[in-house]
Amino acid sequence: MVKSGEHPHEVEITEPCDAEIQVERNVASFVDEDPNFDYHDTPPNFDDEGCGEKFVRLKKGSGQLQFKQVFDTLKDFKECLIDYALKGGYNIKLDRWGKEKNGVVCSMDGCHWRCYCSFHNPIGKWVVKTYEDDHNFTPDGYCRLLKSGVVAKMFMDEIRTNLDYSPKTIQYEVQKRFNIMITPDVCKKAKKKVIEMIHRDHLEQFSRLRDYKDAILATNPNSTVELDTIIGDDGSELFRRFYVCFDVICKLWSMWCRPIFGINGCFLKSTFKGQLLASVGRDAI
Ligand SMILES: [Zn+2]
Repeated sequence: MVKSGEHPHEVEITEPCDAEIQVERNVASFVDEDPNFDYHDTPPNFDDEGCGEKFVRLKKGSGQLQFKQVFDTLKDFKECLIDYALKGGYNIKLDRWGKEKNGVVCSMDGCHWRCYCSFHNPIGKWVVKTYEDDHNFTPDGYCRLLKSGVVAKMFMDEIRTNLDYSPKTIQYEVQKRFNIMITPDVCKKAKKKVIEMIHRDHLEQFSRLRDYKDAILATNPNSTVELDTIIGDDGSELFRRFYVCFDVICKLWSMWCRPIFGINGCFLKSTFKGQLLASVGRDAI
């Protein structure tokens, strides 16, 4: 007996078997292909119709699946599955992933819907080799394909521009946009993943500032670029401030502008905060 509002597969969601954990790990970490599976010994570009066999190529984002449908990468196949699930509200789940044969089945008990894709050597692309398009039941309002990694990707931009974007809003938006329920736990994990990704991005960008300085000086000789750093408690070098004045701007300002300039500033709202200052000059007119 299932209580109203309680998902019949809830126990399975919270206690997945080993195979499901592996599948979830592959999806959540955005690892779309088995790194040990070598399929690159095939022609990268091939005329799909050149070998006499007919294949179907559908527009990305259509949310449609077909037998003999072609995908350039396994990532494209996964995105198509997510589009399909979101469009129809189908509760499908990954069955095997990161192997030679990858696919999804329907989560609903007794439903035989399934779709498998494998690498087709003659054309060097991924092809849907098995497709049973027959859902026995109407959607139940859940989608097991929507793991936190997938949800994180869906809300990356929203969270990037507003770090206060709450897990509750994510849950509400998914319900509103796709009529699909996801658990608060999935929403929380999704937000955490986005924050981690943003943090990783920032760290990588800061670590490249010296390269950025060199690139500016190489492409804009005689410019002034100052990168100031401090040493942190753990002995690592940390960013303090960065100043740049392009040579052409400096010359033109002194030639054409009044010898007065103002400073415009704003506070940065990102994880690392800080202040961005820009000098503003006015020409002689
Ligand atoms: Zn089904």
